[in-house]
Amino acid sequence: MAFERITEATIASYLAGLPAMAGHFSSFDDLDVREVGDGNLNFVFIVTNRRNPDETVVVKQAVPFLRVVGESWPLTRHRMDFEVAALERFGALCPEHVPAIYHSSSDMSLVVMRNLRNHRILRHELMEGLVFPRMADHLSTFMARTLFHTSDLYLGHDVKKEAAGRAINIELCKITEDFVLTHPYEDNETNVYNPALPRDAVDAIQREPALRAAVGEIKYAFMTRAEALIHGDLHTGSIMANADETFVIDPEFSFYGPMGFDPGALIANLLLAYLSQDYRQRAMGRDPAPYRDWLLSVTREVWTSFEAKFLGLWRDEDGRRGASFIGRDLDGHSAEAFRQAFMKRLFADTLGFAGVKMMRRIVGLAKVAEIATIPDLEERARAEVAALRLGAELAKGRAGFSGIGEIVDLARGLSAK
Ligand code: ADP
Ligand code: MG
Repeated sequence: MAFERITEATIASYLAGLPAMAGHFSSFDDLDVREVGDGNLNFVFIVTNRRNPDETVVVKQAVPFLRVVGESWPLTRHRMDFEVAALERFGALCPEHVPAIYHSSSDMSLVVMRNLRNHRILRHELMEGLVFPRMADHLSTFMARTLFHTSDLYLGHDVKKEAAGRAINIELCKITEDFVLTHPYEDNETNVYNPALPRDAVDAIQREPALRAAVGEIKYAFMTRAEALIHGDLHTGSIMANADETFVIDPEFSFYGPMGFDPGALIANLLLAYLSQDYRQRAMGRDPAPYRDWLLSVTREVWTSFEAKFLGLWRDEDGRRGASFIGRDLDGHSAEAFRQAFMKRLFADTLGFAGVKMMRRIVGLAKVAEIATIPDLEERARAEVAALRLGAELAKGRAGFSGIGEIVDLARGLSAK
């Protein structure tokens, strides 16, 4: 089938023609179709049988341009191939945290998947000040399983290289290389920021050699370190949750990249949420302290649980094989010494990626709603200055921190000023 844009008008007949949909819909005559895409890249339709609302799916289609800009910004629709491949791989490793795929088509650049109708986008829920007791546990499981099982620590050398070769995602990586890792720091024309942001706060990330060198190293790591199949965009807008369950969606930026990128993205977004909540909680008439403490406890738990689960999978696997990545463990302590050194380096990488992700959300093109919608520009600038300082500290000092507790203390200290 040749590529064709699906629309509200054509979607029912398209679904009716798919054998995989026969088990989902008892009829295609009375479907409610709503386009719910958040408007940036792709089209997302929720399709529900009006006669039986339990019969419902989500259809997501990539079009050959960037939706937010229009046809003047071409972007390969084959990004959907990467999204589908990652959803399948992550879903096999972590079915309880990835929506099931019912059908996919490379020709049509679309996927039909489970409608997470009882779950909401985490970013919006955090903006409202809601608490998710199981989220850190779920997301640390997702990251430990996906990153460990797609790495050289688990896969055969040949399998891993073939998988890495299939996951070369040139165009979407370029977006990250430009918009996350270059433009914010070079005073690019695409940057947009709060007019109340003090000039010296921007200069501190654009005109300081130590910071520019750190960001250069982080960019180089992003471009060269093919460690694991990463999600590539694991912010709180790519997570749908309720009190019991947590799902990861939207892995179109997926490729074989540095492991620290996913935990870094998540920690950056939790810290940005934390910085926004001083204002947001006060605006809701609440004492900001309890919710902000909860966000920091989640930040801490995301890392500590991820580290423990990743190490647990690794030790179990080495035990099962009776072998280690480093070869024979002649003294009985060398394999563990390597694991500890590996996690220390991964923590430093994670902090570096967290730092650049924070700074780009303040100075670059794409914003996070929890900060960008603070209506009082001076209040907004206060959160933004703290985000830039914290981001810069993480990027520059990434290899020197003792643990996640020090990061939490740093966040608390910077936002108190
Ligand atoms: P994009 O790649 O354009 O950012 P997303 O995958 O983030 O698209 O989806 C956009 C929006 O569509 C999400 O914010 C969410 O509201 C909705 N959505 C996406 N996938 C699902 C799903 N499986 N179930 C329910 N809603 C979904
Ligand atoms: Mg998205």
